[in-house]
Amino acid sequence: MGNVEERQSLNFIESIIEKDISEKKNEARVHTRFPPEPNGYLHIGHAKSICLNFGLAQKYDGLCNLRFDDTNPEKENDEYVNSIKKDVKWLGFSWDEREFFASDYFQQLYDFAVALIKQGKAYVDDSTPDEINAMRGSTTEPGKESPYRNRSVEENLDLFAKMKDGEFESGSRILRAKIDMASPNIHLRDPALYRIKKVHHHRTGDAWNIYPMYDWAHGLSDSIEGITHSICTLEFEVHRPLYDWLLDQLNVFHPQQIEFARLNLTFTVLSKRKLLQLVTENHVNGWDDPRMPTISGLRRRGYTPTSLRNFATRIGVAKRDGIVDVAVLEHSVREDLNKYANRVMCVTDPLKITITNYPEGQTEILKAINNPEDPDAGTREIPFSKEIFIEKDDFMENPPKKFFRLSPGKEVRLKYAYIIKCEEVVKDENGEVVELLCTYDPETKSGSDTTGKKVKGTLHWASAEHALKIEVREYDRLFTVEDPSGDKEKDFKEFINPDSLVVISDALIEPSVKNAQVEKNYQFERKGYFCVDRESDENKLVFNRTVTLRDTWAKLNKK
Ligand code: ATP
Ligand code: MG
Repeated sequence: MGNVEERQSLNFIESIIEKDISEKKNEARVHTRFPPEPNGYLHIGHAKSICLNFGLAQKYDGLCNLRFDDTNPEKENDEYVNSIKKDVKWLGFSWDEREFFASDYFQQLYDFAVALIKQGKAYVDDSTPDEINAMRGSTTEPGKESPYRNRSVEENLDLFAKMKDGEFESGSRILRAKIDMASPNIHLRDPALYRIKKVHHHRTGDAWNIYPMYDWAHGLSDSIEGITHSICTLEFEVHRPLYDWLLDQLNVFHPQQIEFARLNLTFTVLSKRKLLQLVTENHVNGWDDPRMPTISGLRRRGYTPTSLRNFATRIGVAKRDGIVDVAVLEHSVREDLNKYANRVMCVTDPLKITITNYPEGQTEILKAINNPEDPDAGTREIPFSKEIFIEKDDFMENPPKKFFRLSPGKEVRLKYAYIIKCEEVVKDENGEVVELLCTYDPETKSGSDTTGKKVKGTLHWASAEHALKIEVREYDRLFTVEDPSGDKEKDFKEFINPDSLVVISDALIEPSVKNAQVEKNYQFERKGYFCVDRESDENKLVFNRTVTLRDTWAKLNKK
């Protein structure tokens, strides 16, 4: 997969920017923006855009604004605004005091519209939405001019003012740019600039009865803020001629729009509409459910800001749409956590062992290495005693040949402790194995073993008397197919993985994690990476599985 630090060649956007700088375009300034609409929580696709926009500003000593594109009041609210700010900050970026809202420009945008009307380049259309649609034409047929297209400037100014003042019903009229109904680019066929919506806005309240369309608000907001490079996703490529046309008519500062391919991920949906459905229909437990591809969900799952930034660097920016294997994202978090997540031992499916020759009532404190990848991470203490638990599937009564874990008469090492031997299997009335009676060899203590004894298996374990009972939430992919939205005949929700969450309510973990803070990451030896969930309390810690140790999914699927 290659090391992220090794990437050195410029991506196509950096090439454009470096050329602009060398030509002193915009006085060699670089000013980008991240323009979310506050109508949902940010997802991993937005993270890509955030890393790109803020990253370019950092790289070229420029600035990046945070701008809320809040022009659709029905769907927008402050909860989303706050979550977006929190997520951008958490990812490690700062917009300083440059926090803007398109709604802050509503008066300016209105004045620009008046200016456009005065130039004879915009008109009020009284046609119904259906009539407007019918007149739009198609990719093969030109559109038809509206009967209202040639209204006088005075009439348009009067009607537009009345639209603003609330004299007309919602949806009854629009303001349109007067461009070219025969243009091969449908976006230039007299696109709508304003519509009437008598709805409350989360910031401007009831001050406005008309709201600007995206194409009108976006380019002008970029211009007002002096954005030099307005980076957006590919679907806006066909809007660029309109973006340029509007700015040119008004003769205002003209940013350069540049399009890149949006992120698509396998086994994931990234449409805000679909994510909202998952939340409102309770397929998941909220926007920050650890199975969600939202930044807050990934965070709760145990992803780190570094892992997401590295992911963004690793996938790069392209000009053509593609789909990234979610394994690449998982690789990024493993790579990061491997470096600094402390190792601990947790038994999720416990089988009791009594060490028959170990002194009754004795506790030994063993030394364990926190992270073999990081010598500075130090050591911790783990108590060992006569009764311990191992993982049920680390024992087999009738093992196949290459089973190197515990079975009758065989020896294994307990990590950081001793070599034990299984002497007897205890079963209940149904024939289920409920306990193993083992002996230990006191000469084989880890670190001071002088016996030279070799065993093939090393098991993790927990001391019965000392272990903490915890809840473990094992997450798997939320969808069972690579492209849940790919089948147009079917609803994406048909592909929800019914086993995407498995809750283990009585796992046993070594006591060293006792005071772990929410979001603290660990590696559970032999199991994967886990982090402390915010639903933990003083009685019980809850851990989320971030990711397994290896990409086991790839192997399972090949069977
Ligand atoms: P919608 O407009 O349908 O609500 P959106 O995903 O476009 O959804 P925005 O809030 O408008 O959401 O997006 C903010 C910024 O993030 C935009 O510049 C957009 O291009 C970018 N962005 C959104 N989705 C992705 C993605 N999957 N990959 C990369 N960038 C994305
Ligand atoms: Mg958008």
